[in-house]
Amino acid sequence: MKIVLEDMLKGKRRVAMGGHVRPDGDCVGSCMGLYLYLKEQYPSLQTDLYLEEVPEAFDIIADTDEVKTRIGEQTSYDLFISLDCGDIARLGFAGVLFENAEETLCIDHHISNDAFADYNYIVPHASSTSELVFNLLDEEKISRSVAEALYMGIAHDTGVFQYSCTSPETMEIAAKLMRKGIDGNRIIEKTYYEKTYIQNQILGRALLESMLIMDKKCIVSVIRKHSMEFFQAKPTDLEGIVSQLRQTKGVEVAIFLHEIAPQKFKVSLRSKEKVDVSEIAKYYGGGGHVRAAGVVMEGSSHDVINNITARIALQMNPGAEQDVSS
Ligand code: 5GP
Ligand code: MN
Repeated sequence: MKIVLEDMLKGKRRVAMGGHVRPDGDCVGSCMGLYLYLKEQYPSLQTDLYLEEVPEAFDIIADTDEVKTRIGEQTSYDLFISLDCGDIARLGFAGVLFENAEETLCIDHHISNDAFADYNYIVPHASSTSELVFNLLDEEKISRSVAEALYMGIAHDTGVFQYSCTSPETMEIAAKLMRKGIDGNRIIEKTYYEKTYIQNQILGRALLESMLIMDKKCIVSVIRKHSMEFFQAKPTDLEGIVSQLRQTKGVEVAIFLHEIAPQKFKVSLRSKEKVDVSEIAKYYGGGGHVRAAGVVMEGSSHDVINNITARIALQMNPGAEQDVSS
């Protein structure tokens, strides 16, 4: 069924929106793009956006200070819109608002998404959720602020129009957004490339301590809690490390582990051409895209790496032996 935003909003008075935990560029871009559009075009609607703390670099997008980082008195909404989220658990603290809402809509591009809302607009081959939000809006009515948010989201999830998910449609949408008078260069520089000193230091640490495994087809790096404390880094400061690891010549898969608790790791996976990392993340309870996926896993870093590499080996060489990490 085709989703028509105007029809979805008919008769609604209170709308809540939410994106995934540890919001990234596409999550913030798609949420803010739709949020700003609803505020501008449906002023009588009460629209609330719930997200975990938005990284400071995204402050150049209008009204990010209005994002609600916790649930207040209002807990029931006529409609909840989930953006850039592959499953309900990824909504984090806002999940309860999704559960309580009269009606739910999911806008997403994760291949692992099993259509968990009443209405679903899920296009796994789309570059970004921001691209899908663009498709739902009336192009004429897109303001400069909305365009800035969506452009940021598309730029981030395409690795600045580089990854294979970048389609001719993606570029056409980016062009239409540029015509709204945005400063695309500044958005990309300030939100994608610019790093704080702390971010660069922790990146350096991850690169220095990385190892090539599986006949140099795989690169792996682990950042432990004590390193995070030493550099005074926040989890969002780790964004981009796995992409940098993936750029290593000759490597097919990059594995980045971030220790979030004793014996518990946030795992980020990236691949270049062959390995479906979404399948691996999903196997262990996570999800994502064919070339970029994530999962939380328990055990020692050695166990986690062994388990991941066993699945990689199965894809590269079906029937491969299990222990291939050393
Ligand atoms: P990242 O490695 O940058 O955290 O995430 C890569 C992709 O995988 C993103 O699209 C993200 O939404 C998804 N992803 C990351 N971690 C998880 C997870 O724990 N569960 C699920 N379902 N998806 C994840
Ligand atoms: Mn996305």
